[in-house]
Amino acid sequence: MEVASQNNDHLSKRWNHLRKILERSGPFCHPNFAASSETLEFLLNTCKILVIGAGGLGCELLKDLALMGVRDIHVIDMDTIELSNLNRQFLFRRTDIGKSKAQCAAAFISARVPGCVVTPHFCKIQDFDSAFYRQFHIIVCGLDSIVARRWINGMLISMLEYEEDGSVDETSIIPLIDGGTEGFKGNARVILPGMTACIDCTLDLFPPQVNYPLCTIANTPRLPEHCIEYVKIIQWPKETPFGVDVALDGDDPQHVSWVYEKAQERANSFNITGLSYRLVQGVLKNIIPAVASTNAVIAAACATEVFKIASSCCEPLNNYMVFNDVDGIYTYTYEAEKRSDCLACSQVPRPVEIKDPNGMTLQDLIQLLCENPEFQMKSPGLTAVLEGKNKTLYMGTVKSIEEATKGNLTLSLSELGLKDGQEIMVADITTPNTILIKLKFQPNEVEMS
Ligand SMILES: [Zn+2]
Repeated sequence: MEVASQNNDHLSKRWNHLRKILERSGPFCHPNFAASSETLEFLLNTCKILVIGAGGLGCELLKDLALMGVRDIHVIDMDTIELSNLNRQFLFRRTDIGKSKAQCAAAFISARVPGCVVTPHFCKIQDFDSAFYRQFHIIVCGLDSIVARRWINGMLISMLEYEEDGSVDETSIIPLIDGGTEGFKGNARVILPGMTACIDCTLDLFPPQVNYPLCTIANTPRLPEHCIEYVKIIQWPKETPFGVDVALDGDDPQHVSWVYEKAQERANSFNITGLSYRLVQGVLKNIIPAVASTNAVIAAACATEVFKIASSCCEPLNNYMVFNDVDGIYTYTYEAEKRSDCLACSQVPRPVEIKDPNGMTLQDLIQLLCENPEFQMKSPGLTAVLEGKNKTLYMGTVKSIEEATKGNLTLSLSELGLKDGQEIMVADITTPNTILIKLKFQPNEVEMS
């Protein structure tokens, strides 16, 4: 008994600041909040949080959550530590280079914060199924990948259960807190899957990743970036300047210089200006600049939202916070709206308008799904029910099926037997689930007029 009370004394001092918030009421409390000592008890002994990503945001998130009293944290990250991470990913040391981020971060926090146990998972989020994700009360993302964000978003939506009247069973909701940063800009958002705007509802907020068409790069370059891409994609593998098996490394100054020189030659011959060594580096490494202070702000905002939801002490963010300190500090919040025809969370097939079903090929449709900001897919596989039979129209990810279906790519939608109102099931790496689109043929404009 004596030992136990000593422990409690120790605890009461350590969590004094939390007690002030959780054990008394106040004007800013959530209307349903009842001050009690049970909330702290829950936070310390029951609450289980998953952090996805152990990079710039992830290190901050783990530190914030552990110091806020969360003691059962899991972290997933598939990456290993690189030298260039060390300026901001402060849970790592030089001797950790080459090791798993998840494992090093977990070991650091578990050793540094008494009572906190961080369980690492050195793998992809796609390696787990719903049974794994269901064990968490809240999931926080500190990711730099839109594909991964969309995947976990889709996973949490697929785990929802519905009442008889079609409304979401609230006990099946796992809140998703998502943080993102790019240079001096960042955002934090709270997603209640099935209830509020999800990642896919607001997909058009993310600019599609720049991918230059190969024909432009090869034949009609207009930008310095086109010249750099040309050297990277075509000249490097052809000329193998540093040996046959040497891959182009954006961190190797000799490699960058070689590309710079060749790209400059190409730029000169097409009268393209604006090429610089820095630009070459940027294009080769697809650099998203990382700023430690932005990560700190966004992670703190996300951790606060976790605390608010876990404890119900305060209304959570509704639901999107933008932060920008490029020039002074600017921030505001707004309510991102749930899309009634969201690809991920609406269960309604998304209409895709087709102007010319006779002229549009399956390849064109796939390209539209990849390039349209509202879809931003990567390698969609398409299946449709035609004359009562399930038919794979195209699937690029499985070699044998690719072989069998690639002939369809050049056929028009009409030739494939696809009609107005046809539903197509689309599988893509951006979602763990199949999504439905519905072809909507536009009336012929000539006939209309
Ligand atoms: Zn949605």
